[in-house]
Amino acid sequence: MNRRAFLKKLTGYTLGVTAGGLVLPKEVKSELIKPFAELFSKNCLDDEIRSRIVELKRDNPNLQVGELHCHSYYSDGAYSVKDLMLRSASLGLDFLVITEHLTPRDYKLEHCLDSITAQRNIINRWNHGEMRPPAVYPAFEISTKEGHLIAVFPEDYFKPERLRDIKQYFSRFDYYSIPVELTADLIRKMGAVSIVSHPDIQRSYPFGISSGFVKEHLVGLVDGIEDMSAGHGYQKDYSAETGLATIGSSDDHLNIILGTVVTAFDGAKHDNIIEAIRSSDTRAVRLTNSLDILFTPTRLFFNI
Ligand SMILES: [Zn+2]
Ligand SMILES: [Zn+2]
Repeated sequence: MNRRAFLKKLTGYTLGVTAGGLVLPKEVKSELIKPFAELFSKNCLDDEIRSRIVELKRDNPNLQVGELHCHSYYSDGAYSVKDLMLRSASLGLDFLVITEHLTPRDYKLEHCLDSITAQRNIINRWNHGEMRPPAVYPAFEISTKEGHLIAVFPEDYFKPERLRDIKQYFSRFDYYSIPVELTADLIRKMGAVSIVSHPDIQRSYPFGISSGFVKEHLVGLVDGIEDMSAGHGYQKDYSAETGLATIGSSDDHLNIILGTVVTAFDGAKHDNIIEAIRSSDTRAVRLTNSLDILFTPTRLFFNI
């Protein structure tokens, strides 16, 4: 099938699933969209992303490029942690941060910890020849009183004794929405960094923290802010207004848009993404816009 015919078919399909999205439960939607997601990434996307990364590294061989916001089936994603890690490796991403939801009553800390443990086990048993695994970091996306905030922890937190520290301090998030200032303060005290996800995006429940609130209350407390999001389809300049690290990411739930909008940093200056974010020395980069056709239907379909 040529690209044009494929895109035509895709449009029909996405309109169909969007209509279905109004009535179907989430698990059914995930199963429905899986074959289509795989077809789409194989046909259109992956080669484009790979060659863009090669191009970027031609300009700066030390550049490190990765995904900072996505979900597996340990929260509300459709794919496994292993699927996301394998796809990231095959795209040539240097790091992958999987950010399961931590939401009172709906998505418990236990599932975030299970996801983190699964990631550690996959790295320990990695056996895919020439293909290097992406660097992974313990992380989750916390539903605070004012909206979503991502916490990314140093690799040291993969150790069981450090995971116990996370358990000790974050178990209360299973039951309560805690003000974002207190949450950010706790994240910083634990040596992790925090990122404001999808600012200004509104839902009927606290979702994107307003950029006004960030400017007034969170500068100096949080570390990064999503300037560019594939999943939410916007590009802004929040970081310039706040001095926070600029972040580009996908908020992928379907293993489709992963790696289409990424964050990059200079590996000669910083050892890892956490240090780069802390130094506010990052770049948000859109690697492809082939997916514009898919943005709105997918967002409506999954209500993400
Ligand atoms: Zn979110
Ligand atoms: Zn998310």
